[in-house]
Amino acid sequence: MRKKNQTILITGGGGFLGSHLCERLLDEDHDVICMDNFFTGSKENIRHLLNHSGFELIRHDITWPIYLEVDAIYNLACPASPIHYQHDPVQTTKTSVLGAINLLGMAKRLKAPIMQASTSEVYGDPAIHPQTEEYWGNVNPIGPRSCYDEGKRCAETLFFDYYRQLNVSVKVVRIFNTYGPRMQINDGRVVSNFIVQALKNEDITIYGEGQQTRSFCFVTDMIEGFVKMMHTPHDVTGPINLGNPGEFTMLELAEKVIKLTKSKSKLVHKPLPKDDPVRRKPDISKAEKILDWHPTVPLDEGLERTIAYFRTLLKK
Ligand code: NAD
Ligand code: UDP
Repeated sequence: MRKKNQTILITGGGGFLGSHLCERLLDEDHDVICMDNFFTGSKENIRHLLNHSGFELIRHDITWPIYLEVDAIYNLACPASPIHYQHDPVQTTKTSVLGAINLLGMAKRLKAPIMQASTSEVYGDPAIHPQTEEYWGNVNPIGPRSCYDEGKRCAETLFFDYYRQLNVSVKVVRIFNTYGPRMQINDGRVVSNFIVQALKNEDITIYGEGQQTRSFCFVTDMIEGFVKMMHTPHDVTGPINLGNPGEFTMLELAEKVIKLTKSKSKLVHKPLPKDDPVRRKPDISKAEKILDWHPTVPLDEGLERTIAYFRTLLKK
């Protein structure tokens, strides 16, 4: 049974996924404390929530300790786009590692469950396909993506040690590429880049040959997965993959975006970033079985909804 009227902390609540989660939990009558340092998030994402009686905003960097009284914690704070997490890589690792220590300490003190937004990046450039949770990954520990990948891997280690050693109720989800409204125009990830470029009839930047694949999940599906995960019993710790198994090359994605926006954009090729994973697709059998969770929004429909969002934003 779901306990109503909890006070729930969402770190990274001003970001893309965090702002949707704030909205969802307020809709379920919970009180929400949104914590963010606004490195990549935006107050615009949550402006419509600021007057909600159940909503509180705290500007705070999770690398520093903080004492609050809450019933559950979702830890989403961390820049997620490669250009942003590589901007200050030391801070990225600190956010994952020190942030996890601070929030796990809070969860331990409060006996509150805590969900960690981990990532498909823990699999690195995967040698098995599709990726199952049992796969240990193929990650470069010293490359430009390592601050993010290894930071998230170390955070997972901390979560599982707090579970085994201190009996904290941990919930680790490995998120595969997720997109939708409230990504920033300058986010830098592929879906928002392609849509913004297409709507402006600018060149669409394909990194490398564009044959690398990703699996794209629409934001509402992902948020449903988070909430289901939080409501599992103590012994369900994850890690559990959450993502849409549909697999597309970046060329296929660009063609879809051009078609749906009726854009005049041309494709241009740019250098492939170092250590860019070649293929990525989640095996979601665990999420289906344990959470009874399935993505429901097909890529074309999710793209249309995201395009509508950016169209409005660009007109402002
Ligand atoms: P986002 O960049 O929009 O959101 C991250 C939020 O965290 C931002 O609001 C940012 O300002 C905040 N933040 C960053 N560092 C912070 C710090 N030290 N203290 C407090 N706040 C801080 O990205 P998103 O796509 O919403 O991602 C949310 C979470 O999900 C991240 O942890 C990310 O690693 C994870 N994730 C997302 C995806 C995806 O495809 N969207 C995939 C895998 C994992
Ligand atoms: N990509 C691209 N053009 C862009 C942005 C990204 O071709 O303008 C490619 C990138 O090289 C990668 C894929 O799109 O292969 C997904 O990149 P993103 O930054 O969205 O996330 P990643 O899954 O790499 O973390």
